[in-house]
Amino acid sequence: MIRVEDLHKSFGSLQVLKGVSETISKGEVVSIIGPSGGGKSTFLRCLNLLETPTSGRIYFEGTDITDKSVDINLHRQKMGMVFQHFNVFNNLTVGKNVTLAPVLLGKKSQKEADEMAAELLARVGLQEKADQYPKKLSGGQKQRLAIVRALAMEPDVMLFDEPTSALDPEMVGEVLQVIKSLVKTGMTTVIVTHEMGFAKEVSDRVFFMDGGIIAEKGSPDQVFNHPSNPRTKEFLSKVL
Ligand code: ADP
Ligand code: MG
Repeated sequence: MIRVEDLHKSFGSLQVLKGVSETISKGEVVSIIGPSGGGKSTFLRCLNLLETPTSGRIYFEGTDITDKSVDINLHRQKMGMVFQHFNVFNNLTVGKNVTLAPVLLGKKSQKEADEMAAELLARVGLQEKADQYPKKLSGGQKQRLAIVRALAMEPDVMLFDEPTSALDPEMVGEVLQVIKSLVKTGMTTVIVTHEMGFAKEVSDRVFFMDGGIIAEKGSPDQVFNHPSNPRTKEFLSKVL
């Protein structure tokens, strides 16, 4: 579904991604772990074309999305992204947050979108909140809304960049639970996370990113229980 070839990204003279090559299959769940500054967010943002790669290629469902002729907006519709800081529209009701994009883009009528929103909100336990404004929601509820908003576009892939890092501890579980249930539906998922237990439990593969490369990758058992790279061992010894 996603093939990345020798991806490089620099900001001025700062080389952040130094040659990432990887393939992610349909239905696969990949967790990306690693120290701060290692390039995890930049990698995700390149996948979604929120950053333009400096060099290298990214193929998504067979199309080279680094090609200048690619419709970036169309691509982004296929890749839902959820950020650390719940990006919801505070001036719109919860329901409108979900229906706005599909209706504006002509994917659904307002009625169809409303029905879908009701279904999706119920899936994450927000069915009672459709007519409220996000300011009345807790952080965990806002993040569940952000996930539903992304799902409303019926993406082929979901990208999560530390979706629980900004949450109060008591709200981490409810958001992880929603992601877990999404993963169970077979959604192709790439998640940057510091929740090691979660990564261990849900991932098909784990990438350890450090210094702008994937320094180690493998099954959760390989990476967490039998890491071969000293940098992985050092990182895990600090976080586990
Ligand atoms: P991680 O998500 O693993 O913590 P990031 O991808 O956010 O790492 O950042 C990697 C490096 O790139 C950091 O040194 C960061 O300061 C730098 N960086 C990220 N985005 C930008 C940007 N837009 N402009 C300049 N430097 C950036
Ligand atoms: Mg980051």
